[in-house]
Amino acid sequence: MDPVSSLDNYPATVTPAELALLDSLAPSGTKRSLQGRRRREPKYVEFHPDDDPSLYEPTLFEHPDEYVPYEDWEGRIIYWGLSPIIPQGELGAGQVDYGDTQRLMTRRMASNLYSSWSSSELTETPEQQFVNYLVEKQITKLQSMDLGDLPQRDYTLKMVVDQVKDANGHDRIWREFRVSGGLSIAALADKVLTPLMGWVRNYHAHAFTVHKDGAVYGPTESRAIDMMHPQSIGWGAVPETSNRGVWTLAHLLQAEGETMLWLYDYGDRWTHLITVEEIAPVSTSTGKVAVLDGAGACPREDCGGHDDWVEEIEKLQSPDPRVRAEVLANIQHALNYKHQTIGASFDPDNFDLVQARARVHAALASPDSVWSGPKSFVHPITKEGMRGNPGTLPDRLKKGQTLERTWDGDGRFMQEVTSSNRDKKLGACCWTCGTPHGLSACSACRKTMYCGSECQRLHWKAGHKLQCKSRK
Ligand SMILES: [Zn+2]
Ligand SMILES: [Zn+2]
Repeated sequence: MDPVSSLDNYPATVTPAELALLDSLAPSGTKRSLQGRRRREPKYVEFHPDDDPSLYEPTLFEHPDEYVPYEDWEGRIIYWGLSPIIPQGELGAGQVDYGDTQRLMTRRMASNLYSSWSSSELTETPEQQFVNYLVEKQITKLQSMDLGDLPQRDYTLKMVVDQVKDANGHDRIWREFRVSGGLSIAALADKVLTPLMGWVRNYHAHAFTVHKDGAVYGPTESRAIDMMHPQSIGWGAVPETSNRGVWTLAHLLQAEGETMLWLYDYGDRWTHLITVEEIAPVSTSTGKVAVLDGAGACPREDCGGHDDWVEEIEKLQSPDPRVRAEVLANIQHALNYKHQTIGASFDPDNFDLVQARARVHAALASPDSVWSGPKSFVHPITKEGMRGNPGTLPDRLKKGQTLERTWDGDGRFMQEVTSSNRDKKLGACCWTCGTPHGLSACSACRKTMYCGSECQRLHWKAGHKLQCKSRK
């Protein structure tokens, strides 16, 4: 199990007894003794007077302008290059060493000091202070970047689930696809990567980390349940889209061979290594999204992570039919498989190109996910339960948004906020082909967007004819 998951049930405030317990558990040198400690002066962040700076990694004592980010043995920087989430030598790209769980737990509890620090302007933890500075710096850099013709060029990308290997050490799950360099990273994640893999849209949060500078991008406004693990992405991210800017693939990757990590689900921590295989010249670029090839079925949602998935699919080889049946039932039950029939013929190494294309095209022909109202489950044990799942719903729905609740069949409802508003033009893509270029809205409903009459005609025939009337 992810060691951090066990922290979720921790009380919101720290009692002296709990503090004493933590002290007794903590390795020497990290004890949270409030007396007699020597304070080292940080160059930028500010510590709460009652917090213990010795709990924090040395990086936080540096100035964010001067610190040297941690690089792994392949020269990759992940999650701003901060420790203790730096990978140890033997860990692969994106695999995180949570370091000392007790220390992390104590730090999480200490964060209450900051959120309730009413006597000061300072309500951010040292990690947030440090990373927010890096985020601001990155936004300034992005705003002045000269992208040349990269937004007009098509990128061929390979995405590998880098922790799942076969017996020979080969990648077992990967996807190859083409998108425009001008595609917004928000649309890339929501309408391409998620359905291409076989994950569920607007369920878990995600993050991109560009290996050359360690900068992290994500849906910072998401209320997904796994957002409670901010240490998973180095404590903060550049918002994917905001009024400060809409970032595209071309902002993140500029050359063939460059890589980034796409993290899906901050709890189960699925790491996908994305490599630029080719950047086509403008003359041969179409801007369209194309699914080219792949291998391996998508792991099941909420299975726990890559180790758990590998263990599960190995059990499919068990001579005991009960063991196999149990695994198949778990897969059938998962949110990303429950609409399919999973039988004995389920092959975890099978990649269905036709289905993958269909999933991506269905996502392109739909509105953006509403990150403020992700999918979550409500167990209506009491009347209170039906009022919602605090924390995962927005306080108030915006015009055009609807709270949808569907009976999940397992004694629970699934809820999600959907939108019938038109996607914001900046960052949008064609509802038929996925190009981000030359878009205009359907003149009848004003809600769908196309790059031209050909794509509009195709979508009209594919069902927009009926949809258009109901969308008015
Ligand atoms: Zn189009
Ligand atoms: Zn229409």
